[in-house]
Amino acid sequence: MQTWKAAKYVRLSYTDDKSNESDSVQNQKKLIDDFVKNNPDIEIVSEKVDDGYSGIIFDRPAFKEMMEDVHAGKINCVIVKDLSRLGREHTETGRYLRRIFPAYGVRFIAINDNIDTAKDSSGDDLAVSLKSIMNDAYCRDISVKTRSALAAKRKNGDYIGACPIYGYRKSDENKNQLAVDEYAARVVQDIFRMKIEGASALSIANELNKQGLQSPFEYKKSNGLPCPSGGYADKDNGRWSATTIIRILQDETYTGTLLQGKQGTSNYKLKDLSTKPVSEWIRTDNAHEAIIRKHDFDLVQRIMHMDTRTAPDEDKVYLFSGILICECCGARMTRQTVPYKGIKYYYYRCTTGKKNGCNAPKIKESDLMGCVLDLVKSHVGNVVSLDELLNNTCEQNINRKLASQYLARIKENEKQLATTKKYKASLYENFVSGILSKDDYKLHKNQYAEDGERLENAILLLQQELDGIQNNTSERLRWIEHFKKFEALTALDRKAVIQLIQSIKITGKSEIEVTFRYQDEYQKAVSIITDQREAV
Ligand SMILES: [Zn+2]
Repeated sequence: MQTWKAAKYVRLSYTDDKSNESDSVQNQKKLIDDFVKNNPDIEIVSEKVDDGYSGIIFDRPAFKEMMEDVHAGKINCVIVKDLSRLGREHTETGRYLRRIFPAYGVRFIAINDNIDTAKDSSGDDLAVSLKSIMNDAYCRDISVKTRSALAAKRKNGDYIGACPIYGYRKSDENKNQLAVDEYAARVVQDIFRMKIEGASALSIANELNKQGLQSPFEYKKSNGLPCPSGGYADKDNGRWSATTIIRILQDETYTGTLLQGKQGTSNYKLKDLSTKPVSEWIRTDNAHEAIIRKHDFDLVQRIMHMDTRTAPDEDKVYLFSGILICECCGARMTRQTVPYKGIKYYYYRCTTGKKNGCNAPKIKESDLMGCVLDLVKSHVGNVVSLDELLNNTCEQNINRKLASQYLARIKENEKQLATTKKYKASLYENFVSGILSKDDYKLHKNQYAEDGERLENAILLLQQELDGIQNNTSERLRWIEHFKKFEALTALDRKAVIQLIQSIKITGKSEIEVTFRYQDEYQKAVSIITDQREAV
């Protein structure tokens, strides 16, 4: 049963009839308290009183505080004596009831008006009450309830869509959870891999078509999986298209993050779906198993960002596309083919050109490749020695000592736990064979159970500490590993360039300035080492 964290909201206006005892602050509170007593699924977590404020305006201090709690997720239920306590102004009251509360999954209860948005049976009452009190032409109110229920599910990270994206299906055990569709997931992984290796969306689509792979739409259709109407761009001929590839490459769902509420009927009168701004999407990290590592996903976003700026229509993306920057004017440099005596030469040049005041030289691709390769090799070499130095820092040593201590203590506790379990198992035999009296048996049994629990808790805590240390270290060393993978690099390819280099500035005919990725982390590591040296 869901427990609702409720705010008691009480409002008393100066203009309210003071002789009407039932509207007093005291009475409003008591009425709500009595109601909650009979509803064990509601827990009052705050009490907000606006004494002396009109119901026409919503700019009341306690009400605003309450709404902040709603935004912060501290409360998900609002209880008032009657609807007019919330407000007396139709449009604004309606906005809270139909838009704001449902959007935040807030259950709204107006006791004397019989309004409770969490109860199906109150549907008619809700409609009647609203109509009588607000005399408004708002349409039927069932949508308030379904939408609030959906919003609550989204907040919990439950999947509520009808058609999971390609690569996932609904879990058999839990319909509100996405499970990996192994076959399609491998295709998705291939798509990301090809992108990282430098392929364009179009060439990926061509490759998949060449391999005879079914497009997502075809695949879903032939496997009896639900597919959205009008969802896929490839639905006409059942073949993969660049659009479908791009959609897959941009979908964060593959990293295990659930994004919902991308579209919504912003107004209950409007039936068409409109895309909501990213800030209003409801995100749940680690909602389901990831198909693509976060790191790879981010890399692909970076690549695509560069691709769109450089070669939107090109089939192939060149080695340095999107990375070369003209120092003179700040423009990006593009690749150019120059045939000379039957041989093709490749150059990168600034698109601004002399006419527009840029004097940047054009630079030969082969020269650039040799030069960049040398720089990359020496940088990777630097990172490797940095890693060795880091491994010998005090901090690392302390962490390593702590880790081995924790590990030893875990082992010791596990040994004790095994012994306890063994004794516990032989206890019953001893009791049955008459060695132990019933009382002794009970006593020992409880003792062993207690010991076992204590040991298990201790192991759990130690394991958490150990994980903390290891995560910390691994987070810091992740970028180093990233560079170390390229230790044996002998030639540049698009993948290496993208993964290692942030940008290359062409500063002169034979001068370049390479900014590597993880520059900040690199600097930080260097300063750790420098500080240590100075401290010695
Ligand atoms: Zn330029």
